[in-house]
Amino acid sequence: MVLERSVEDRIAESMYPAGITKGVADKAVRRWFTKGVKAPDLAEKARITENYLLYIPFWRFIAQGKAVGCGYSEYREASGNLLRNVFEELIDEEFVWTECACDTGKYGIHELWLEPGGEVPYVPGSVAVMDAGGSAAEASTRGREAIHAMIREKMAKRIQNVTLDKTFLIPKVFELVYVPIWIVHYTYGSGHFTVIVDGVRGEILGGTSPANLTARTRFMILSFAAGGLMIGTALGMLLHTGTFMVSELIQIIILLMGIALCMVTYPAFRSGKTVEASGTMKNINRLRPSLRIPKELTDYEILTHASKLLQCPECGEAVEQPWGEVVTHCAACGKLLDVTADGVEMVSYAAAKPNLLSEAAMEGREPQYIPFWKFSADVEVSDYLSEGETETGLPNIEGKRSYYICAGDIPRYLSEPWEVDLTIRNPEFEELEEVPERMPVFINKKTAKELSEFLYLRYETQKPGILQVLRYTFDVTSAEIVYIPYYKEEAGYIPGV
Ligand SMILES: [Zn+2]
Repeated sequence: MVLERSVEDRIAESMYPAGITKGVADKAVRRWFTKGVKAPDLAEKARITENYLLYIPFWRFIAQGKAVGCGYSEYREASGNLLRNVFEELIDEEFVWTECACDTGKYGIHELWLEPGGEVPYVPGSVAVMDAGGSAAEASTRGREAIHAMIREKMAKRIQNVTLDKTFLIPKVFELVYVPIWIVHYTYGSGHFTVIVDGVRGEILGGTSPANLTARTRFMILSFAAGGLMIGTALGMLLHTGTFMVSELIQIIILLMGIALCMVTYPAFRSGKTVEASGTMKNINRLRPSLRIPKELTDYEILTHASKLLQCPECGEAVEQPWGEVVTHCAACGKLLDVTADGVEMVSYAAAKPNLLSEAAMEGREPQYIPFWKFSADVEVSDYLSEGETETGLPNIEGKRSYYICAGDIPRYLSEPWEVDLTIRNPEFEELEEVPERMPVFINKKTAKELSEFLYLRYETQKPGILQVLRYTFDVTSAEIVYIPYYKEEAGYIPGV
């Protein structure tokens, strides 16, 4: 959640440690010589001339993508009958975008092939690296746009006509990650060739080799023809029945099999709701300082850096953004501040006193005070259409109410039901004079505001019918942090309000 600041001046840097030695890379290349469509005597005649380890940089942007998509698809049956299927999709999962941050030229490496996990801090000068080029701010914008597109693509997979389409993104990590590769040069006859070996797992990422031309040509023809060939054969048989001794039934079966082969990605037409959820905030832990070393700025970056002095609006104290927090208390006056690259904004906050019931039930126990963003919002719906079952047992949450978004370091699968509960109930509570313990705030105002709109939309999709049209305005008039007491039990938490 340190994206806003890290883009500006503190790109986190980490690296994957090399997992294989030079000898292993050498063996992997020699094995590769014997595989696929290559000159038959390659293993025997190739001479490896150089083999060295190099780290190449990648931009990596990890975000939780959330989306609600509604719409319909139509399908005309052979009889002329038009089938219409309505869809309502909810997506809540982690998306990862990577882009090579240097010019890999003829090796053509564009994306990172490794999953997040297993990285160590990158110490400049410790390994041979290709320098990262280009602007971090622009890379982050590209990443953000690419992930929005990925969410949208996933959402609209089954929907031909989209009638509602909202995507949200919670940034988790934006970083430079250095990845080891072995670059192996070899000669064959008078030619020079190169192979790239993944330095973590020892797989061949790509390379050039003298090809066995006859085999390659054969292979290309076959792969192009596979599906089409069968249809062609069957159609040919049907059209020239006289010349073939095959029964019509078998010809039709061959035809159908050919069509099926060509349509492996044919969408399953069925109505309904889909929910995809995964990767729930797990990478948030990777923002911990132990794994992150700030990137040193280059002279160019310092010269072009639009530096802005961040100050507490209350007392003028210079504000330093701590790692892993986007909302922080001023060291001098203690006011709560929402710090972004663009400036510092004061946030009012309060702590809720546990109610009498929970105080009696939990006598002698101290609750944890968990921070929530509380937004006063006004939702006005101008257009609504839901198909199928529309009778709902759920209360209507349009109009004015407070939306609660958990901002503490609590797994989202635990905090999301709390958010819905607090938003529907809008509990009344007394305020404590002082906040007992300041649990760090991990989600800033901008992201929390998007999450509150998503909460509203997700709630609407949980109603029984299949949502098709929803036009609304979501106006937020005020925002504050409220620390809400929760009693930690073995099986979970018990709310104190
Ligand atoms: Zn201050």
